[in-house]
Amino acid sequence: MTRAANAVRTVRDLRARVAAWRGAGKSIALVPTMGAIHAGHLSLVALASSKADRVVASLFVNPLQFGPREDFKAYPRDEASDAAKLANAGADLLYAPDASEMYPPGFSTKITVAELTEDLCGAARPNHFDGVATVVAKLLLQCGPDIAIFGDKDYQQLLVIKRLVCDLDIPVKILGGAIVREDDGLALSSRNAYLSPAERKIAPVLYQTICDVAADLAQGRGADDASEAARFKLEAAGFRVAYVAVRNPDTLEPLHGPVKEARVLAAVHLGKTRLIDNVPVPLQAR
Ligand code: AMP
Repeated sequence: MTRAANAVRTVRDLRARVAAWRGAGKSIALVPTMGAIHAGHLSLVALASSKADRVVASLFVNPLQFGPREDFKAYPRDEASDAAKLANAGADLLYAPDASEMYPPGFSTKITVAELTEDLCGAARPNHFDGVATVVAKLLLQCGPDIAIFGDKDYQQLLVIKRLVCDLDIPVKILGGAIVREDDGLALSSRNAYLSPAERKIAPVLYQTICDVAADLAQGRGADDASEAARFKLEAAGFRVAYVAVRNPDTLEPLHGPVKEARVLAAVHLGKTRLIDNVPVPLQAR
């Protein structure tokens, strides 16, 4: 049965709903999204339901985290369908503020998380992580959840948010949710909708290639050597490679020689679509 969509649009209404739950002794989880809901988002809602009594899903396409030449205008939007999917997956409340509620006239504060944001996706997308950190800090302060859940899919983002919460003493526990993939390994993403049928056939090579890097590292191959081989493979398959990197899984510092524990991260372009993915070293079974 489809659960009725249950939405609030203002900080005031969100806080009233959360306060009523708090008064009844309920714990609260927040799952932030930009909509275009897919099974990856829904897995985070399911995880949230297993960890807290009530789940708030937010839906806000955050203009601050898009660059001037990025897809803010084209980003897929279908609130009614997203609301139904989130409710069916166990979200008790949808928080869908307008941009004017999030950033009223005069808004002038920006949060910058240094170091972690300087390269990988931060290198190609200046201001992106400032936009993410600013909106996530606001969402956490608006909702006041006990836990907030973000996907491992955006691994650098997850670490940035953990750093932000620690540095600003925001009283919330941040959890990462495993990456949900298509059968052929392609990580689900709202942006996969931009892929042409021919590009969609090539796209799973991204996951296969970073898994190969992880397997090579487990066999003792050096990190630089393995990531160079991966770049070559991806370019041969038709991707433009922004980066393939082997990093410390907690600090994202570059690793060079043989490694025991790491994260392999990659960002590529296929036509007009930017795809990112990552896997742990050692690899975990899907
Ligand atoms: P987005 O709507 O793209 O901002 O994503 C909202 C949340 O869903 C973020 O925490 C993402 O990391 C997470 N997410 C996106 N794709 C996936 C996926 N394939 N598996 C798990 N989580 C995901």
